[in-house]
Amino acid sequence: MTVDAVDLFVIGAGSGGVRAARMAAGLGAKVAIAEYRHMGGTCVNVGCVPKKLFVYASHFREDFDAARGFGWSVGEARFDWSRLLAQKNREIERLQGVYSSLLEGSGVEILPGRATVLGPHTVAVGERRITAERILVATGSRPSVPEFPGKEHAVTSDAMFFLEHLPRRLLIVGGGYIAVEFAGIMHGFGVQTTLVHRGPKLLRGFDEAIRDFLPQEMLRKGLSLRLDTLIERIEKAKDGYLAYTTGGETLAADLVLYATGRTPNTADLGLEAVGVALNERGAVIVDGDYRTNIPSIHAIGDVTDRVNLTPVATAEAMALVNRLFANRSTPVDYDTIPTAVFSQPNVATVGLTEAQARAVHGEIDVYRSIFTPMKHTLSGLGEKTMMKMVVNRQDGKVLGLHMVGPDAGEIIQGMAVALRAGATKAVFDSTLGIHPTAAEEFVTMRTPLD
Ligand code: FAD
Ligand code: NDP
Repeated sequence: MTVDAVDLFVIGAGSGGVRAARMAAGLGAKVAIAEYRHMGGTCVNVGCVPKKLFVYASHFREDFDAARGFGWSVGEARFDWSRLLAQKNREIERLQGVYSSLLEGSGVEILPGRATVLGPHTVAVGERRITAERILVATGSRPSVPEFPGKEHAVTSDAMFFLEHLPRRLLIVGGGYIAVEFAGIMHGFGVQTTLVHRGPKLLRGFDEAIRDFLPQEMLRKGLSLRLDTLIERIEKAKDGYLAYTTGGETLAADLVLYATGRTPNTADLGLEAVGVALNERGAVIVDGDYRTNIPSIHAIGDVTDRVNLTPVATAEAMALVNRLFANRSTPVDYDTIPTAVFSQPNVATVGLTEAQARAVHGEIDVYRSIFTPMKHTLSGLGEKTMMKMVVNRQDGKVLGLHMVGPDAGEIIQGMAVALRAGATKAVFDSTLGIHPTAAEEFVTMRTPLD
């Protein structure tokens, strides 16, 4: 079937675009979707999914070490990167197939190729011209690397999923999600890893307790950190690369990963020609209903550069499609977005940081616990866990929960429901713990910090 006129034309088959296309088709709309790279977008191909598989893979080294403390003798453990890559690729291909068949099964036409917006109601994909009642821009983002001498020697996270060989020495530049996650992954694989960050602390925007605690655990595991440091230039050396820092150090590496943020994919899309307003970073500007200044053109997900997470892109897709095709209002709650950094150990958080809570509510109580989780009483690894709760003193509502420790993402996901439901500290206190778990600490914290 070829389509020349549709109700909704979606550009980009990533987390947001696929959800919007499927849902709109399910509600009876005629939908087409264009994708020029890989079905499933960033999350499935070069993001969340392969990254989490790598996190699992890299953690085994520590698990083998920990096993000794529990009576196990583990023989020499060897890691085969090419086997992991093959396994990962097989799973990603399976997921791509699932996405394609879900779309086709919903009656969405998939147009492989790069889409360009020609007008408020017209899109081109190759030779095809399609008219659309509405156009949804869900083109995501791509890694961005600052300009500096030797930039051509740096790779980005995209390449990390397809390396032919693991490097012996890796230099990572950046202090955000991707830098911290890949530092843990590569260190776990036995790669000598150095993280260089321009700021005094990692993970800007997270609670200070997390920002203070996580680097201690990373250092304990043997990672190298250089804070308040920039790379001035990178040169090719006989054996790998040499990176010259503002601290006067020369760091040698076989691979240099720049994880210095992402840029919205709006170049060569035809948006400016049609008059769609972009901000100074090139992100599509939308109102609360994901509408651009051109009423028939909408945008969701990373291309709007607000909260760049998969569940946010899919929630935005559902909110938009519900409003357009079901006349239903299902707004996204941007105040209580839980999020995890799959560092080692994990970081997870929901709600306000202590500083935000103090600024908004004034009088707050802060509870914090740092302890050795039971597994590590015998593992010999010395890893500690940190949990923190921020409470509004006036009405007792829990405003924020922050954690560094194993499975923090799994734990905070459950806690996020309580926070969204407006649970007070008294509700947490009267909730029975599950013993023995680390999570029970959140319902047994009794004494606020001074
Ligand atoms: P995308 O998923 O990027 O999809 C956009 C699609 O549009 C792409 O497939 C692209 O090829 C296509 N496209 C672009 N231009 C055109 C065009 N002109 N024509 C046709 N197609 C086009 N988020 C989490 O929640 N949890 C995580 O653990 C997590 N880990 C991540 C790890 C990494 C390394 C990275 C890079 C990101 C991670 N993210 C994670 C973020 C998450 O991947 C993004 O927030 C999410 O994919 C955004 O979805 P999207 O639909 O907006 O864009
Ligand atoms: P982030 O925005 O999280 O971090 C970018 C980092 O690079 C910051 O530490 C920033 O420093 C630093 N930086 C920026 N510009 C420069 C520069 N010119 N020189 C040196 N350092 C620089 O981006 P990421 O690339 O790590 O990830 C992109 C987004 O993808 C994340 O923000 C997140 O939304 C999403 N993501 C989510 C994950 C998850 O849910 N687990 C995992 C991976 C990605 P500073 O802090 O000083 O600005």
